[in-house]
Amino acid sequence: MFARITGKQNQLLDCLAKAWSVEQIAQLQNVQAASVRRRINNLCTRLECRESDLAGLYSAWLDGQAGERNLIRQLCRSFLLAGPTAQDNILEDQAAASPAQAIEGPRHACPGDLPVSPQIRTRVVQEPYENPRIAITPGSKGTSRKVLQRAFPDNDACLNHIFHARMAGDYRCFKCRQERRWYRIAGFRRYATACCASSFAPTGRTVMHRSSIPLTDWFEIMLLFANSKNGVTGHFIERHLGIAYKSGFRMADRIRTHMALLECDRKIGGPGKLVHIDEALLRGIRTNGVRGGGRAIVFGMCDETATIALAVPDRKAATLLPLIDRHVLPGSILVTDAYHSYSQLAARGWNHEIVNHSRGEWVNANGFGQASIEAYWGVFKRTIRGTHLHVSRANLWKYIGEFNFRYNRRHVPHEIFWDMIEHFPDFDRQAELRIDIPIGPPRPRKRRPPRTDGVPRKRASRIFRN
Ligand SMILES: [Zn+2]
Repeated sequence: MFARITGKQNQLLDCLAKAWSVEQIAQLQNVQAASVRRRINNLCTRLECRESDLAGLYSAWLDGQAGERNLIRQLCRSFLLAGPTAQDNILEDQAAASPAQAIEGPRHACPGDLPVSPQIRTRVVQEPYENPRIAITPGSKGTSRKVLQRAFPDNDACLNHIFHARMAGDYRCFKCRQERRWYRIAGFRRYATACCASSFAPTGRTVMHRSSIPLTDWFEIMLLFANSKNGVTGHFIERHLGIAYKSGFRMADRIRTHMALLECDRKIGGPGKLVHIDEALLRGIRTNGVRGGGRAIVFGMCDETATIALAVPDRKAATLLPLIDRHVLPGSILVTDAYHSYSQLAARGWNHEIVNHSRGEWVNANGFGQASIEAYWGVFKRTIRGTHLHVSRANLWKYIGEFNFRYNRRHVPHEIFWDMIEHFPDFDRQAELRIDIPIGPPRPRKRRPPRTDGVPRKRASRIFRN
């Protein structure tokens, strides 16, 4: 109804009613005083009143005392862009009948309580939201492009899904903490309540933060990530969506981070359960622009349901044992090799089984082996070598997280995509997960002696970019 009352004008009127000075309002809204002054003048022109009357007019309207019908009409007339609709008349009659409960139901004690214009509500958010995931069963091929297009035909459908996923069933207003209806704000990836103009951008600080790429494209690439065996590269996205390589790499990087963040809090083991622990050396890690010169150590733990792997700076007990404490549930039986960093495990209260490979032992005297973690290394190393060839040290944890996300769901492939869009973790968390791997001095590289016959050395050409 108050088509031109925006959030800031709302706040402006509220401040004027509290007799704030122009300077105070400017400070609050983080704008110049001249801008506040200009907006006050605009309001006065539109309401045909003096500045001194503005605050009184607003307070009187807010107080909603009897006999204010004309005042409400006057305000409505001043602000309406189009003529009153039938709905407006009904609301106005309701306001007249009971001014205290004007327009948006019962009044409550939150500041700036003004109705939102019908022009900015494009759609009331439907509650409860029916998640398209519930129709996905093992036999229903929930992994296909057709299913994706049916569930998320346009950007609005994607945004609506993200909104409901992030609200997680709690639709209270952020300010007054009461159950409210949320409205989509037209033209923005943003939702708002009518009570305090609390607004919420579902894609903010998530995988799609400030991205101008359509949400349908994001969902499609996430489906490719879920369906592929070894992941998707930046060049693939460049070709698939017809966007720049930089945009494609950024999308891939962010989706990898998203998957790694979803996977980072996993715990494995439990009373009486076997947890296999091992570490592997990954060659071909890019350091300081030198390809293939570096190596990284990856530390892995797995039980029969899931695997956790982390990039670690070294193999010292001080590095590895806290990670075991963090990710393995108490009461588990740990199976490791005879590496000395694990020698303190029994002293720390773990049930510890050692398989001594140096004695040619692959299953120890008690019948414990390490086949499951060795199988994991085989697949993991092939993924990195086969698809990504060289990954940088700084990004390694994201590649590991992405791989684990798929690997841990390999028996339920129809769940992978839906798990990816079920939760949208805060990207600010990646700072705490990034493990700083110190980069040592580069290893001396063996260089071929220059040719003496004057023929220039041939460069290896890459036919198909990865
Ligand atoms: Zn509120």
